[in-house]
Amino acid sequence: MPASTSVAPHQAAHHAEHNPYEAMLARFHRAADILELDKGQRAVLTTPERELKVAVPVRMDDDTIQVFDGWRIQHNTCLGPAKGGIRFAPDVNPDEVRALAAWMTWKCSIVGVPFGGGKGGVRCDPRRMKMHELERLTRRYTSAIMDIIGPDKDVPAPDMNTNDQTMAWIMDTYSMHARHTVTAVVTGKPAALGGSLGRPAATGRGLLTMVKETAAELKIDLGRASAVIQGSGNVGGTAAQLLHEIGVRVTGLSDIDTAIVNAKGLDVPAVLAHLARKRTLKGFKGGDFVSNDELLRTPCDFLLPCATENQITSKNAGKLRTRAIVEGANGPTTAGADEILDRAGIFVVPDILANAGGVAVSYFEWVQDRHGYFWEEQEVNDRLAVLMKRAFANVVGRAHRHKVNMRTAAYVEGVDHVARATKLRGLYP
Ligand code: NAD
Repeated sequence: MPASTSVAPHQAAHHAEHNPYEAMLARFHRAADILELDKGQRAVLTTPERELKVAVPVRMDDDTIQVFDGWRIQHNTCLGPAKGGIRFAPDVNPDEVRALAAWMTWKCSIVGVPFGGGKGGVRCDPRRMKMHELERLTRRYTSAIMDIIGPDKDVPAPDMNTNDQTMAWIMDTYSMHARHTVTAVVTGKPAALGGSLGRPAATGRGLLTMVKETAAELKIDLGRASAVIQGSGNVGGTAAQLLHEIGVRVTGLSDIDTAIVNAKGLDVPAVLAHLARKRTLKGFKGGDFVSNDELLRTPCDFLLPCATENQITSKNAGKLRTRAIVEGANGPTTAGADEILDRAGIFVVPDILANAGGVAVSYFEWVQDRHGYFWEEQEVNDRLAVLMKRAFANVVGRAHRHKVNMRTAAYVEGVDHVARATKLRGLYP
C-alpha cells in the first residue's frame, strides 16, 4: 500500500520498503539508466496497460453471501498476450498485483517467450474456505474478468493458493460462455484437460537448473552442498524434492505455520508426505522446529525463498549466512536488502530469472493446446533446461558486461527486449 501521510515516518519507510511495486520500480530505473531510456519510454514501460477491479459475490456454504475484491492487471502486451498467475490470499492488494504483473513482463522477456505480463488476485482466506465455496468464487471471478482474458489476450495460471483444479474451473467457466471448449485460456491445467506434462514441477525444476548453474559459476561442489528452503508448496516443495534427489542436503524447510531444520539433512520425501497428510509441517518428527527468522539465518550454501514477498529485508539481510540466494518466490527480497547482500558478497539469482521455469512450461502448454498435439514429459523438461540455461548465461553475461549484480543484469536483459520491441512497433496515435 502507498505510504500514507498519517503514519509515523518509520512506518512510512517500512511501507515503502515493503511495497512490491516500489521495489519493482527501483530496480527498473537502475536498468533504464544503463539502457539510457528516456522519460517517455520509462513511463510507457512502467504504467500498467489495463487494470480491472471486480467485486466477487459468493454464496457461502452456510447460505450467507460474502463479497470479495478481485483484480486482473495487464502490465504490458507488446510481445504477446498477457501471461501470469492468479492468487488467492488475505493480503492481495492492487500494488502487489501491479508488481507481479510487471515482473511477468520482464520474466517472459528474459526467457524469450512471446508473452507480456499480467497477474490476478482475489482477496480471500482460502484456508478458511470450503471446496465448493472456492469453486463458486473462482467461477464468479472468471465471469467478471471474462472480457479481458482469452488465448490471444491474457492467459492466467496458478499462483499462491490456486492449483490445477482452479485452472480447470476457469477453463470450464470460460468455455461455457464461449460455447466451445477453449483449453488455451489458462495454463497449469490437469493433464487430462490439455495441461502439459511437467507443468506442476516446472518452477521447481527451473530452480534446480539455477542451483546447478550457480554452483558451476561459484565452484560449489553440489555433492557437499546444503540448501534451506522457505515455503513447501508447489515451488518450494518441488525444489526440495529435486535437490534432495541430486544429493543436496536440504537442511531447512518451512510452511506458513512453522519451520524445521536438521543439519544432517531432512528426509524430504517424509516431510512432504507428512505435509500432504496433515496439510501442515507441524508435528513432523525428524528435525527441530524454529521460527521463520531463524530458518532464514540457518547457515547454508543455497537459500531458496519460495513462499511470498518481503522476506529478506534491510532488517535481516545482514544476518544471512548463505553463499547464494535463488529466488523461487516473486519479490522475496526488498530493494533495501539488495545493497546489503551485495556487500556481503551473496550471489543472488533474482526472481524474474530464477522462477521463470513456470512460465516457460506454461508457454509450452499454450503451444501444445493450440496445436492439439502433446509432448512427452522428457521433451518438456529438456526444452525447459535449454531455456533456463540460456537465460542464466545471458544474465551472467550482462552482469559481467555492465559490472552490475545479477538482479540489475536480469532487469537490463528483460527490459531491453521489451523497450526495443516497443520502439519498433511505434506509438499508435
Ligand atoms: P503455494 O501456495 O503452493 O505455496 C506457498 C508456500 O509458502 C506454502 O508452503 C505456504 O505455507 C508458504 N507461505 C505462504 N505465505 C507465507 C508467509 N506469509 N510466510 C511464510 N510462509 C508462507 O504457492 P506457490 O505456487 O509455491 O508459490 C510460491 C511463490 O512462488 C509465490 O511468490 C509465487 O508468486 C511464486 N511463483 C510461483 C510459480 C508457480 O508456478 N506456482 C511460478 C513462479 C513464481
